[in-house]
Amino acid sequence: MSDVNETPVYKRALPGPLPELDELNRFFWVSGEDGTLRFQRCGDCNHWQHPPSVICPKCLGENIAPQAVSGLATVGAVTVNHQAWTPGMTEPYVIAIVELDEQPGLHLTTNIVGIDPDKVVIGQRVKVVFEHVDDVWLPLFVPV
Ligand SMILES: [Zn+2]
Repeated sequence: MSDVNETPVYKRALPGPLPELDELNRFFWVSGEDGTLRFQRCGDCNHWQHPPSVICPKCLGENIAPQAVSGLATVGAVTVNHQAWTPGMTEPYVIAIVELDEQPGLHLTTNIVGIDPDKVVIGQRVKVVFEHVDDVWLPLFVPV
């Protein structure tokens, strides 16, 4: 064991506009404040859903509330962007769609960080980390 390891600070790859918070999505973007990722879940049929909605797409119920997930996911699709969209952007970055462990089809579009972008592969196991910017906690993913 070593005490020289510092907690790494992860940054999203492409600084840009932050999400606009509203009544429906606020819970999602501030969820990382306590280090926990949350998605909406239906209290009647247990279906997870994202993005947030006022109705369950499966049973059409309205008994929906945020619930914590494990934060573990699998990379389902990956794109490495080498284009420098902004003058200060020189590093390639990874945009990925990850599928949360909690339910097939529970997807989140995110950045994979903490790894050489060209080494991210479909099927890779990842876990959530958060970047705190202003009043939001952006969920990013790192290799497990
Ligand atoms: Zn439902």
